[in-house]
Amino acid sequence: MEKLNLDDYIRKVPDFPKKGVLFYDITSILAQPRAFRYCIDSMVELYQDRKIDAIAAIEARGFLFAAPFAAHVGIPLLLIRKKGKLPGKVMTKKYSLEYAEAEIEIHCDDVVQGSRVLLLDDLIATGGTLNAARELLTACGAQVPEIFGVVGLPFLNYEKVLNPTPVRTLINYH
Ligand code: IMP
Repeated sequence: MEKLNLDDYIRKVPDFPKKGVLFYDITSILAQPRAFRYCIDSMVELYQDRKIDAIAAIEARGFLFAAPFAAHVGIPLLLIRKKGKLPGKVMTKKYSLEYAEAEIEIHCDDVVQGSRVLLLDDLIATGGTLNAARELLTACGAQVPEIFGVVGLPFLNYEKVLNPTPVRTLINYH
């Protein structure tokens, strides 16, 4: 696998979406095929020996990394979406954001009982979204043995929130 410095491919946008926040933007990875391929290849390498039965990803940027991985490895892809987007029978989970509440949903019928599901998002900040997603998956009968983010912001303490599930990332910012 080609080695590259992923940091070179991540756009940093100060004061987005609000003043004082430095936004790590992965659209610049998608726009550069070498970097995108590096991410997918790295995920394949990380998880090839970990007995993963399916991958679940969070709307919307998580989908972009999970879909090529699922197709490459040949495992089911489960979508976790914002409330009201999935047409079938859903399980819903409400959770708190910094200043508001949010709700995410999944088609529970697509989750195989007892299966080992890798949970993914593009970036892990506080871990609140992934924590809610993990609860959704376990409520549907899955196990979540691993969590993956392309980018991690460990200073926001996501490891504590997501404990005891191991969290792997390709790059961390401090
Ligand atoms: P958390 O629930 O606090 O971990 O927030 C994670 C969610 O917010 C993910 O779905 C990310 O896509 C999004 N997010 C938060 N900060 C950033 C950022 O700097 N860049 C890209 N996405 C971000």
